[in-house]
Amino acid sequence: MTPRPLSTKDLLRPLQYVAGVGPDRADLLAKLELRTVADVLFNFPRTYEDLTTTVRIEHLVEGVEATVVGLVHSVERQVTRAGKVIVGVLIAQEHHLMRALWFNPTFGIKDLHKGIWVAVRGTPKRKTMRWEMIHPKIMRLDLPTAPPLEQLAKPGLRGADVAAASSRPDDTSADSIWLGKYRPVYGLTEGLNQRDMRRITSSIVRRYAGLLEEALTADLIEKHGLCSITQAVNGIHCPEQAADVTTAQARLVYQELFALQLGLAMRRYRMTVNAQAPLLEDNAKIRGRILRLFAFELTTDQQLAIDQVCSDMGRTTPMNRMLQGDVGSGKTVVAIYSLLLCVAHGFQAALMAPTEILARQHFNTLQKQLKSSRVRIGLMTGSLTSVERTKLETELAAGQIDILIGTQSLVRGNIPWRKLGLVIIDEGHKFGVKQRAKLKQGGNDPHYLVMTATPIPRSAAMTLFGDLDLSIIRQTPPGRQPVKSYLVELEKRESWWHFVRQQIESGRQAFVVVPRIETQSEDDQTVTATKMYEELTAGALQGLRVELLHGQMSSGDKQRIMKSFHRGLTQALVSTTVIEVGIDVPNANCMAICSPQRLGLSQLHQLRGRVGRGSHAGFVGLVLDESTNPETRERLQLFCRTSDGFELAEADLKIRGPGDLFGTRQHGLPPLLIADLFRDQEWLVKARNDAQALVQVDPDLADPNRKRLRQLVLKKYGKVLELGDVG
Ligand code: ADP
Ligand code: MG
Repeated sequence: MTPRPLSTKDLLRPLQYVAGVGPDRADLLAKLELRTVADVLFNFPRTYEDLTTTVRIEHLVEGVEATVVGLVHSVERQVTRAGKVIVGVLIAQEHHLMRALWFNPTFGIKDLHKGIWVAVRGTPKRKTMRWEMIHPKIMRLDLPTAPPLEQLAKPGLRGADVAAASSRPDDTSADSIWLGKYRPVYGLTEGLNQRDMRRITSSIVRRYAGLLEEALTADLIEKHGLCSITQAVNGIHCPEQAADVTTAQARLVYQELFALQLGLAMRRYRMTVNAQAPLLEDNAKIRGRILRLFAFELTTDQQLAIDQVCSDMGRTTPMNRMLQGDVGSGKTVVAIYSLLLCVAHGFQAALMAPTEILARQHFNTLQKQLKSSRVRIGLMTGSLTSVERTKLETELAAGQIDILIGTQSLVRGNIPWRKLGLVIIDEGHKFGVKQRAKLKQGGNDPHYLVMTATPIPRSAAMTLFGDLDLSIIRQTPPGRQPVKSYLVELEKRESWWHFVRQQIESGRQAFVVVPRIETQSEDDQTVTATKMYEELTAGALQGLRVELLHGQMSSGDKQRIMKSFHRGLTQALVSTTVIEVGIDVPNANCMAICSPQRLGLSQLHQLRGRVGRGSHAGFVGLVLDESTNPETRERLQLFCRTSDGFELAEADLKIRGPGDLFGTRQHGLPPLLIADLFRDQEWLVKARNDAQALVQVDPDLADPNRKRLRQLVLKKYGKVLELGDVG
């Protein structure tokens, strides 16, 4: 019986019906979100093992990673007194021997026995007697007869050469087919090993990759010199050589970033083309009235940002702008200007902050600033009683409140705006594309400004906030004091706390930050902060007025503590990272950050922005604990050396990957499967340019040649970016 010819429909075939998978493995694969043939084709390897060349034992070079193929000569297993298991395997190439050693090996050693062929990859070390590899990777080769030694140890050995020596040259379950190649390494789940995963994937690739249809039009493929999708999928899973991976990656990375950028460009197009926002023009009279409120001259960057905002708000297409400026650069001024511009035209404005503390601080600042004006300000937070909330809502609906300040609770439920003209989000990097989308649904279309103190690397800005225009404040206001940052080594702790105490005694205030522990809950963080509080009040800061602040306190307690710190009554504030953003207490000039290795450089930089805001020089001590390794130390040293937020953000992206600040997932976008926002910046720019150009000519991707492309974009981004109506 000849199998029926496959069609593109087979790409969607559930894995349980695919030969060689079956229902049990299909269940395991489903745990990796792999359900169909296509899912497997696009489940890319995490990395590769280079098995292209093998080396003869006598040609090994100390410290240079190599693959050695040989016969198992003996297997030894020892249990030390401490209960550690040591497995030693002697591997022979004729009379040359090499020892491979594992401590507490996790693989099954029962498969290893005298007389089988193995390939071992690791870093050789010369011992007095012979070469040794500690913890090498080992794979069993199915070679029933001894292949000629020359064939197993030569540069550029081809997999086919080895397969020829095997009795089952077509059997893809034999590990030996990967010899001479780059062997892919996949993400796994319990019950599914690399060998199964490779076998399933390579057999699916062989059978189905040819069915894939191009999503990219020919002009783009030609423009960037990309390979076909079939070649790319083949190359990424079953490369014959390094170049195959590179070629495949280029194609897949571009395609992924292009789809993302298209989604963003289409979203942006939709937001601007159909939306109508109120015309809130700036004029000399308004400007004069607003500027009179500030006790200082605006910096050039502040003026520029205000000009850009005014030009946006003076149009009926809604403003969609991000204002980026380092901590302390004076973004609030721009926010106040825009709020008042909106109010001057009789419209209401909203200012949203990520925490209640910050919302309250904005409320206080604004009330002070607008004391003598008729502008009415409201504060809406999660801790309002329902009576208070109803009252506030009634006033809003009646137009008796001009500016409403609040936390996320502003997005929750329907706020009965009378005439909403502007929405500002402070520290907006915490709000994802999706959350921002919610705000847009609130009645008519307001203008929209998002502010962030986190210097966002260009690549991340183009992606996570790709639907926004950008204003940047680079200068800091004049008269700022420099902030000195130090690594506080274990043995220097005492003198550091002594220094903090001196600063406090001379009239300053201090922050002590105890960060979140990633794998632990808020509770544990609270415990850690509480412990530090107890330690300090019983020790280094004994007798001083120290308070503890953490996220689990009632909002009343938090308010009381912040107020007392603002007034200078509290001298030192031990807190969790709730103080990360925005807190403005100019007299606080010292900050100790405990376990700083737990935080990203950008986050540390945010924290640092809390000090040096007044007329006193600022000091930040990164208080190290036992667990600081050399890389961490290096990372933290970079932090101490530079105060350039952009440099730190770039370093973060490079060292830690997109992580929690710049990861797509945290922002409500599906994760990138192959592109890397740091590594692939060039592709990102190309993809963005192409996407923007395309949306100009074909905003709905209606051209029949773009049918696949449209499907691709809608499938991944249609929902999250609300492009649904296109399809
Ligand atoms: P951020 O950008 O971190 O939100 P803020 O807006 O809170 O910064 O400003 C930090 C401090 O600098 C505030 O105390 C503010 O009053 C002050 N400030 C802002 N702009 C200027 C300026 N042009 N000249 C002097 N001080 C300024
Ligand atoms: Mg601010």
